[in-house]
Amino acid sequence: MTIETEAPRPKDWIMAIAPYVPGRSTTDDGRKVAKLSSNENPLGTSEAARAGFTAHVRDLERYPDAGAAALREKIAAHYGLDPARVIYGTGSDEVLHLVAGAYAGAGDEVIFVRYGFAVYEIATRRVGAVPVIAPDKDYATDVDAVLAAVTDRTRIVFVANPNNPTGTYTAKAEIARLHAGLPKSVMLVLDQAYAEYLEDADDDGGLELAKSEPNVLITRTFSKIHGLAAERIGWGYASAAAVDAMHRIRAPFNVTTAGQTAAIAALGAKTFIENSRAHNIRWRNWLVEEIGKLGNAGLRVVPSKANFLLVLFEGSLTAETTYNALMDHGYIVRWLPGQKLGHGLRITIGTEEEMLGLVAALRDIVAQNTGELA
Ligand SMILES: *Cc1c(COP(=O)(O)O)cnc(C)c1O
Repeated sequence: MTIETEAPRPKDWIMAIAPYVPGRSTTDDGRKVAKLSSNENPLGTSEAARAGFTAHVRDLERYPDAGAAALREKIAAHYGLDPARVIYGTGSDEVLHLVAGAYAGAGDEVIFVRYGFAVYEIATRRVGAVPVIAPDKDYATDVDAVLAAVTDRTRIVFVANPNNPTGTYTAKAEIARLHAGLPKSVMLVLDQAYAEYLEDADDDGGLELAKSEPNVLITRTFSKIHGLAAERIGWGYASAAAVDAMHRIRAPFNVTTAGQTAAIAALGAKTFIENSRAHNIRWRNWLVEEIGKLGNAGLRVVPSKANFLLVLFEGSLTAETTYNALMDHGYIVRWLPGQKLGHGLRITIGTEEEMLGLVAALRDIVAQNTGELA
């Protein structure tokens, strides 16, 4: 008998993944504080979605509809799509993993921007592919830099629009130029997790591209404006061939019954969605203005079209100091040193009360640390 000396060994490309760090909801000493770290909807969710969630409490022994037919029909009717070409996942995160699994493997390259969404790198490495980072243009997506990074090994390009964690937005003409410049064999994934926060004039054309172009996938989520982050429902739209490939590796019964019915109801909650968008625009504008009043403390806000702001600390007051001080004041925001944003804080737009309190805390912290505004 041989004696086991070695434990099972995970694949090298899996161990090269830096684990995803979720937004926190408690302080180091366990106090519960205002959570402005995960881009959740401060207005909660709609009553309709809540009712959808509880509609099947008597059916818990039944598997969910594996084909999510009612959800696909609802999404298709809402956006004018073919229900057969709607793919769905446990959050749009799963859809991002599905497209990586279907189109990239060992030795292939996957492009995304520096300061892009953390899941792209995880999804890329998970399948043994090589992440290729395109430099940004003052924190925004630089289409020329992305196109310059393309090689004959490129299989996927991930672009979030608006982007997380920067909030930056790439206009329709630029998205069209990006698509036109890519080889037809490269899948362009347009991650529209924050699309519902845009004003109508800011449609980036992604959905139209996904309708007609065989190499475009758009992804959407119920986690953000619909306020259903707990339920993990996301979806995507692509060609029939791409959806067929992704279904082959999708976990059976991946989206829950409660999640499906909540999401169907959420799409119909027009007033809630409009209120959420209006609240976000109002308080985002207000927060930009108030941070601008913090004097010469060196804070710079990256222009955002999402439900958060990336604030850069370019003076003597650091992001880390401010992050810790905000926690002491009862506010958790996102500090992202792991994404090379040690000099920035991402702040989710919260309730009115949270925004007023956050700015008061920021003024206090700036005064304490720089002598400004004292
Ligand atoms: C929040 C977010 C997602 C996905 O969230 P899910 O909860 O998995 O649907 C996807 N992309 C970006 C850019 C996000 O910020």
